[in-house]
Amino acid sequence: MNPRAIALVRSNFRTVTESPRGTDRLTNAFYGYLFGDNPILRQLFPAGMDAQREKFVSALSYIIDILDDRERVSGFLEQLGRDHRKYGVESSHYSAAGKALHSALKSYTGALFWTSSIDAAWASVIDSVVTSMAAGADADDLPAQWSATVVEHRRVLDDLAVIRLRCDVPVPYEAGQYLPIRIPQRPRMWRYFSPAIPWNSSGELEFHVRRISGGWVSPSMVNETQVGDRWSLGAPLGGLRVDMHGGDDVLMIGTGTGLAPLRAQIMEMAMRGTNPRVHLFVGGRYPCDLYDMFTLWQLGMTNPWLTIVPVSELDTNPWWSPEPPAEMPEGMHQRLCGPIGSIVSSFGSWADRQVQIAGSPTMIRSIRQALILGGTPASRIAHDPV
Ligand SMILES: Cc1cc2nc3c(=O)[nH]c(=O)nc-3n(C[C@H](O)[C@H](O)[C@H](O)COP(=O)(O)OP(=O)(O)OC[C@H]3O[C@@H](n4cnc5c(N)ncnc54)[C@H](O)[C@@H]3O)c2cc1C
Repeated sequence: MNPRAIALVRSNFRTVTESPRGTDRLTNAFYGYLFGDNPILRQLFPAGMDAQREKFVSALSYIIDILDDRERVSGFLEQLGRDHRKYGVESSHYSAAGKALHSALKSYTGALFWTSSIDAAWASVIDSVVTSMAAGADADDLPAQWSATVVEHRRVLDDLAVIRLRCDVPVPYEAGQYLPIRIPQRPRMWRYFSPAIPWNSSGELEFHVRRISGGWVSPSMVNETQVGDRWSLGAPLGGLRVDMHGGDDVLMIGTGTGLAPLRAQIMEMAMRGTNPRVHLFVGGRYPCDLYDMFTLWQLGMTNPWLTIVPVSELDTNPWWSPEPPAEMPEGMHQRLCGPIGSIVSSFGSWADRQVQIAGSPTMIRSIRQALILGGTPASRIAHDPV
């Protein structure tokens, strides 16, 4: 795509994201056009559209951010097309969505500022988005959904559960990817979760789920899930992976349940003979948030290429946690205390590493910023879309 078109699209989109309630107005217009012209599509979406609107804006922002990286953008869009199969979206729906987005942007911008160059730039971006998504959906010969049974539900913290499932047929994911999940308690809502173990032929999966206060799905997963519940899983997504061929050492930073995709990759690497050196910084707000230290310690003890550094933002546990902060097991790096981004940067620039960050969107953004300020090239830093 030509750089001028990309620049025009970015600057026009900034007028949406930088204006108060701009993204609400744009998404209202988008879904208004989409459902107005194609009423039948409304039934594919949940009744409450707030989370859907947020997801739409995050995906669009991410696509616009990476537009000049052709390979990355088409890989992401093809995955997104495959992901949409679980909703019952068909190829023809993409052109309807593209038309609705074009009309929404035009009416948001207003006739005065909607020039023919902006019109053409958006038309070419939207065309390549809908074509890549439709191609991704058409090319996929995997099922749109899989089913799995909950076999264990363990509360490891008041707000965090480790949930194990066995799939009827193993889902073909790679360590580091994430899967859309739907639970019986929230039948029309899909959320993404990252398996915390690598693929295995028995179809066993493990997820670490944090309860987000006020959330629709995660409180139900943590509080109400029962052994025997049947969950639906969509096609795997995401491209967090260690490049074994480049040979560069690896820096991984995971906060909260962001540990899961990193842990899955480390476990998979542990099954191989030769690996690059891996530094894993694992973080939480309080010492008690470091919920998986025993497994990490075992991995660290048996894999000399792996160094694990626990970090908590605060040095003491909160008053509602009765335990004093646990000592780190012998042989393990002692816990460091402070903002994880600054702590990681204080070790050096990490400029020669392949870097992966996983965690909440706020943590990803702040750690990424701290690393870039500390000298890590942005192009070396990978994370899932936030
Ligand atoms: C690629 C990817 C992988 C993920 N993997 C995991 C995982 O392995 N384990 C896990 O527990 N979660 C994971 N998540 C987050 C998960 O998909 C849900 O977003 C989260 O569980 C909240 O869903 P909800 O329905 O409870 O909240 P919603 O009803 O969707 O949202 C309620 C409110 O909470 C806010 N919110 C949503 N997510 C977060 C968050 N993470 N931190 C702070 N505020 C938030 C929303 O902006 C909204 O305002 C992942 C997300 C992505 C994008």
